[in-house]
Amino acid sequence: MWGKDGDYTVNSCMLALERIRYAGSTTYVTNVWKSICPPKTEMTLWLALNEGLCTRAFLVKRHVLSPQEDRCPFCEQHSETVSHILLHCQVVWKLWNKIVAWRGLSWVMPYGLDDLQCQWLGLLQGNHCKFERSVWGGFMFSIIWTIWNARNNLIFEDQKPIWEDILWLLFYFAAGWIRNLNSSFWYTGADLYRNHECISAWSA
Ligand SMILES: [Zn+2]
Repeated sequence: MWGKDGDYTVNSCMLALERIRYAGSTTYVTNVWKSICPPKTEMTLWLALNEGLCTRAFLVKRHVLSPQEDRCPFCEQHSETVSHILLHCQVVWKLWNKIVAWRGLSWVMPYGLDDLQCQWLGLLQGNHCKFERSVWGGFMFSIIWTIWNARNNLIFEDQKPIWEDILWLLFYFAAGWIRNLNSSFWYTGADLYRNHECISAWSA
């Protein structure tokens, strides 16, 4: 898909897809564009919400894989559906919970990605500024992208996920896109990981 300047961009691709599939609609897909994360993370969530991610269950449905090949690459116990690989798989669920616990919050397992969106944004109750809410929303995109990336690395590169490292990467990644949003944000991923309050302290 080609942008205004004749360049291929993920943004132009997604905007065109949104126009085609959701013309006149006010679905939660609209929220995808409000993220502060890089477009690649938004693209992953957009595809996941629209049953466009090539999970093994997706490929079985389209007769690309046999029904026996639908197992989740992380746990190898359940069918690899979108909600399983991004949310409900045991190892993945632990990652989500670590981020929620990092913020000092608690939640219940969402039914699926649409429920996740509603819960996630509602978790940050109280007196939080717009910037802090945006960053919190951005974490949701980043986690989904990171999990999908880890899944692809396992399937295509045979790289077994080391979840502690993935957690650290998430914070370094987050510090990077927050800095892209505002270059005066000087905290590192390690600072974020140590204390989430640096986000509110910085934006105060
Ligand atoms: Zn699994």
